[in-house]
Amino acid sequence: MNKLLPTTSAGSLPKPSWLAQPETLWSPWKLEGEALTEGKRDALLLALADQRAEGIDIVSDGEQTRQHFVTTFIENLNGVDFENRKVVRIRDRYDASVPVVVDDVTRKGPVFVADAETLRAHTDAPIKWALPGPMTMVDTLYDARYGSRAELAWKFAEILNQEAKELAAAGVDIVQFDEPAFNVFFDEVNEWGIAALERAAEGLSCETAVHICYGYGIEANTNWKKTLGSEWRQYEETFPQIQKSSLDIVSLECHNSHVPTDLLELVRGKKLMVGAIDVANTAVETPEEVAATLRNALQFVDADKLWASTNCGMAPLSRSVARAKLGALSAGAEIVRRELSTEPAA
Ligand SMILES: [Zn+2]
Repeated sequence: MNKLLPTTSAGSLPKPSWLAQPETLWSPWKLEGEALTEGKRDALLLALADQRAEGIDIVSDGEQTRQHFVTTFIENLNGVDFENRKVVRIRDRYDASVPVVVDDVTRKGPVFVADAETLRAHTDAPIKWALPGPMTMVDTLYDARYGSRAELAWKFAEILNQEAKELAAAGVDIVQFDEPAFNVFFDEVNEWGIAALERAAEGLSCETAVHICYGYGIEANTNWKKTLGSEWRQYEETFPQIQKSSLDIVSLECHNSHVPTDLLELVRGKKLMVGAIDVANTAVETPEEVAATLRNALQFVDADKLWASTNCGMAPLSRSVARAKLGALSAGAEIVRRELSTEPAA
């Protein structure tokens, strides 16, 4: 990407109301069979059109073909029982009924590759594709087979690597691994989480990103954030090792967040997707607010390594709010881009 401060969305976009219940996370599909297949494809193209209309430079599928950012991928694996579920505590925060690993996990076949080909066929813009990270997958399941989170994460990393290589071959420019669990289990992140992530990203011909956020604006997350105090220093635990990792890009949360911006210094050298849009709030940011967040980040990241992004996915928001937020992101990035281009040379 040659353009300075390219814009992109960190994750999901809202689905049309004819495909799934609006403003509802993990909403079931409203269509079935052939109509569902066609509906998902149409939604993907609408998400692309919305992003381009709002000036987004690096586009995604808006995760229109998945109900859940982790379980939709896991549904396409062998060795996981979705019928006899167990209740486990997720991200050390909330209880959820989850599928159970009962046998060796393997991939049944390509999961998102056909969707990526559809997106590639409809745009010349750079494409970023999100996959769940190995640690977050482990933390969204009950394991009755491996008996070791690290071992199961390694198996998932191998599977993710197969999928990621096929996505790259289909024309995806950036594969992003979503690892919200990295903000919770610091010891495990440093012991095996980053190693598993590097395994998932190994040998890819495209760029690789890791997205580490404080989650969607759901109640369990909002309540958790209230316990984190006035300064959120979670990134401090993991960024030094991430800085040394093979991942190219780090996607993190900034706007309306209590993350001290100087923590960005810890990953100096990486490209940063700085979250300048709050996804836990329906108030649309002004371009000036976005610009202020980006200017603040520029103290700790070189301009040619800064991408303007959202804090996380926007699936739970209304389509109109999400579109307006993308527009604000583009307008805010443009303000700072102009400032940078008119700065006198040193
Ligand atoms: Zn996120």
